[in-house]
Amino acid sequence: MTEDCIFCAIVAGRAPAHRVFEDERVLIFMDLFPAHAGHTLIIPKQHATDLFEVGAEDLAAVVAQSKPLAAALERVFDCDGIAVIQLNRAAAGQTVFHYHMHLIPRNAGEPFGVHGKRQAPAERLAEQAARLREVFEPAG
Ligand code: 5GP
Ligand code: ZN
Repeated sequence: MTEDCIFCAIVAGRAPAHRVFEDERVLIFMDLFPAHAGHTLIIPKQHATDLFEVGAEDLAAVVAQSKPLAAALERVFDCDGIAVIQLNRAAAGQTVFHYHMHLIPRNAGEPFGVHGKRQAPAERLAEQAARLREVFEPAG
């Protein structure tokens, strides 16, 4: 854990987040500035800055949970597709330096972006996380 990492603070419960799922290795929660309704993040609980640093088992656990999360997102948000995005280092657009995978629901014809412009209201994220928790069936 690193002191000034917001995602480590979320893992430790020192910062709030709308949680969808967690096990001993990974945590899934709603992105605070969604690019689209249902924008979620999967992170390893163990701090690693990016793909260059993340351990193989943590990476495998994140990838494994991306599949049931995609299914849950499709069910809840009735989207046409899902973008899986993962940015490494500032040059690639990374803004939070704790490895994470974005899953972003997409609909045909809509403009594409990774970063939303506005913070979502807490009630909306809470309600979306609750709906995802109801249908999420973890891998493994
Ligand atoms: P990156 O640009 O590093 O790939 O993505 C970081 C993501 O984390 C962004 O989509 C941003 O909206 C999200 N984010 C930043 N701070 C917080 C936070 O405190 N809570 C949550 N839930 N998401 C955050
Ligand atoms: Zn961290």
